[in-house]
Amino acid sequence: MKILSAEFVTSAVKVDQYPELRLPEIAFAGRSNVGKSSLINVLVNRKRLVKTSSTPGRTQLVNFFDINDEITFVDLPGYGYAKAPKRVVREWGPMVERYLAERRSLKGALLLIDIRRSPREDEFNLIEWFRAHGIPFRVVLTKADKFSNNKRQSNVSRIAKELGLKSSEMIVFSALSRSGREEVWQAITELIGS
Ligand code: GDP
Repeated sequence: MKILSAEFVTSAVKVDQYPELRLPEIAFAGRSNVGKSSLINVLVNRKRLVKTSSTPGRTQLVNFFDINDEITFVDLPGYGYAKAPKRVVREWGPMVERYLAERRSLKGALLLIDIRRSPREDEFNLIEWFRAHGIPFRVVLTKADKFSNNKRQSNVSRIAKELGLKSSEMIVFSALSRSGREEVWQAITELIGS
């Protein structure tokens, strides 16, 4: 997709702060530090549309960005930040599930997982919510540049197995090399069309 415009719309804590339903939405979910901001910035060819936070996990906001006035990207709050206050940890699940359950313009989600890690409870919960609310999703493995080709492939197989998905269902991405960018865009286009 040719990026003509990419603009921050608003941040929301509560449902009544979400912007009006106007464009098809794609949600991005992942652990703090997984590379979610970097992925979105690479997708839209901007250095800092999404600011990478130096103190993750402090505020939990759902951030909305309009791309080309065609698609809305929704940056869901990250989770799993060890130093996050208890209140923040407690509020994350209900906040994210409410968005997933109620947002009628949501066409699909991308779940980001660091290629070096294993999916944990939060990832399994997210997948359960996607399925429960009929939201198609794809998994994006981030920071692929951390491995050589062989090790990369073995980690893709490992994570696919842990998630009960096929390796071919996962997209391997690096913000550093921008590899996988086209595949992620392809997935977004398919999610919007489905
Ligand atoms: P977020 O908290 O999920 O939004 O993660 P960020 O995009 O802020 O990235 C967290 C850290 O990982 C930053 O130091 C990034 O520079 C680094 N990072 C993000 N993507 C990549 C990647 O593809 N490769 C490598 N090597 N580092 C990355």
